[in-house]
Amino acid sequence: MPYVEGLPEWSMFPDDDSRRTAIEQVERGMMPRSIKDVVFFIAVVIVLFFVPWLVADFLASLLPPIGAWNKRLTWVLAILGYTVLVYLAIRRDMPKALRGQLIKAGVPICLKCGYDLRGLPADRVRCPECGRAFDEEVVQLIRTAASSADSPL
Ligand SMILES: [Zn+2]
Repeated sequence: MPYVEGLPEWSMFPDDDSRRTAIEQVERGMMPRSIKDVVFFIAVVIVLFFVPWLVADFLASLLPPIGAWNKRLTWVLAILGYTVLVYLAIRRDMPKALRGQLIKAGVPICLKCGYDLRGLPADRVRCPECGRAFDEEVVQLIRTAASSADSPL
């Protein structure tokens, strides 16, 4: 999975099962759910394709005329550029999406900065790293973890 390669969030999942579930959920979350989503999705695809196409067209026009190859080169470059832009867009949103999934999997993490909140005392309500107030779900996870660490087995 190149989209998650090297992300610290990816290594924080308790096991491969939870990783698989997380990716499924994230992919589901990317699917358009309404007409408005579909229109937006198509608009994004057009922009992400049109911008590299314009650049590619310009680059190909700088080359000496090589017949049909100028046009072919434009398309190859445009598709390449589109692929790179889509990858970057997904990769940019991936850490935040994974943090949400980590919390669902029972791993407390700061949604804003990705700070690992495991082992934090139960009375904390803000991220020690960035100061963001925790959501209720995160507060519960920290409390549960702290109380089970306190009580002798
Ligand atoms: Zn934080």
